Amino acid sequence: MNNHQCNWPLGKVLGGSSVLNAMYYIRGNRRDYDSWAALGNAGWDYKSLLPYFKKSEDARAEELVDSPYHQEGGYLTIERFRYKSPIDDYIIHSGEELGYKVHDVNGENQTGFTYAYGTLRDGLRCSTAKAFLRPVSKRKNLHISLKSFVEKILVEEDGTSKIAYGVQFRKGRRRVIEAKREIILSAGAIQSPKLLMLSGIGPKDHLEEMNIPVVHHAPGVGQNLQDHVGMAGITYIVDPPHKMNRTERNRFTKNLSRIGNLESIQELIQNNSGPLYSHMISGGMAFIKTKYADKMIDYPDVQLFFSGASDYGLSIANAHEINSKITTSMYKNITKNVQAFGILPCILRPRSRGFIKLKSSNPKEAPTIVPNYFEDPHDLQVLVESMRFLRKMVRTRLMQNLNARLNPNTISKCSQFDILSDEYWACYARYFTSTINHPVSTCKMGPINDSHAVVDDRLRVHGVANLRVIDASIMPHIISGNTNAPTIMIAEKGADMIKQDWL
Ligand SMILES: Cc1cc2nc3c(=O)[nH]c(=O)nc-3n(C[C@H](O)[C@H](O)[C@H](O)COP(=O)(O)OP(=O)(O)OC[C@H]3O[C@@H](n4cnc5c(N)ncnc54)[C@H](O)[C@@H]3O)c2cc1C
Repeated sequence: MNNHQCNWPLGKVLGGSSVLNAMYYIRGNRRDYDSWAALGNAGWDYKSLLPYFKKSEDARAEELVDSPYHQEGGYLTIERFRYKSPIDDYIIHSGEELGYKVHDVNGENQTGFTYAYGTLRDGLRCSTAKAFLRPVSKRKNLHISLKSFVEKILVEEDGTSKIAYGVQFRKGRRRVIEAKREIILSAGAIQSPKLLMLSGIGPKDHLEEMNIPVVHHAPGVGQNLQDHVGMAGITYIVDPPHKMNRTERNRFTKNLSRIGNLESIQELIQNNSGPLYSHMISGGMAFIKTKYADKMIDYPDVQLFFSGASDYGLSIANAHEINSKITTSMYKNITKNVQAFGILPCILRPRSRGFIKLKSSNPKEAPTIVPNYFEDPHDLQVLVESMRFLRKMVRTRLMQNLNARLNPNTISKCSQFDILSDEYWACYARYFTSTINHPVSTCKMGPINDSHAVVDDRLRVHGVANLRVIDASIMPHIISGNTNAPTIMIAEKGADMIKQDWL
């Protein structure tokens, strides 16, 4: 990667990363939440959480409306992407030949293939700001201070007790606001631990090293960082069906570099249709099991993102700032007349753990983020194994009708290995590593006897009164899917607990 650094974008905006995320609406696997509960977090099992997933939801896709797993009328609208590339149908239905169902992966069973569902309204992004804040913006008891940068949480000591009472932030000048009841920290998995540490709540040695007075020794703050990681850019070349005319063949896959052309913009404005209503990268996905997953239960270990875009490889390389020397030669054969699609496998339950640390006591300075991808060799093994599944997928009848074939151009750094070997794909994964942008668990929830637990099962910070954390950082461990819907679920449950405690 350029500068040997991964690119980790975050939404520094009202609505947070839901304003710039990929919009997939995925809840994870019921076993993830049963595991959270088994770790000592009462009320966090799947059965207890399903009502909170449903509470926010306004399911607008016809096929979801009557499902016991979905609901209409919530603040957050869920739709299918309005436009799909014709190739998406082939990719998604190829799974059926391998014994996988095309079904609702947020429903009874997760294992299977699906078209992409998104946090969308009338085909356009529905961020959490649009869904939850806009409709209540006129409430007299809601005040939002925009362009305000929080520097720390203020905590007073009363004997041996520590009590959070205010927030210091900058809006032009430095200001302090005091809380009548409690403070809710929702700055996300990177910034919440950073703010706790800046406030003196974190690992004692590290705070001392940063010259920050220790308010409360909390060794788990910033630890336990987990993220989904995948290998990006895998591309298959296809020949569109012969029966198609030239225009249909040209539209069989999409081309991201041309998606904003005049024709698509006209379709968008005049007919509310066209490729600008597609998911820019992936129109569908699958949850599959490699040989490392338990065959007997519905607990897939790999998520596949399918891209019906010919130039997905180059686009994703740019997005992740992969050094162009490594990737340019890979895609030089994918010219504008070539039709291709991509698959990005990612591991659902990585075992590697990273951490976040401060670089200094200056709130403006970004923290050090160390994801430690592939520190545990299991994570790489699962990804390599997922390639066997991809090979089976392209050998299905549907894919063979398109003469689907792996892009023969190899990644330059791994060209010493045979493209069909595990060594090649292990090397590939190390060079074309892709975060799925799901950092979690840096202020994990857990009982007091877990020394690394930062909040209890009512999301209250252990050891500091009147302070809760409610965001992706509290997940005890990562869940098997994208993290936005689970974070919204956490917020719904957190909101209920606040009401229970104060009303
Ligand atoms: C590029 C990208 C793609 C993704 N794609 C998907 C997807 O398709 N589906 C999915 O389910 N998930 C996706 N995710 C993940 C998902 O968006 C996050 O899990 C989710 O947004 C986490 O919510 P959060 O509230 O914990 O943190 P955030 O969304 O990061 O929100 C934190 C908020 O705190 C504010 N904040 C932070 N520090 C301060 C401070 N010091 N002062 C004031 N305000 C502060 C930020 O401005 C922001 O508004 C993606 C994420 C990214 C970045």
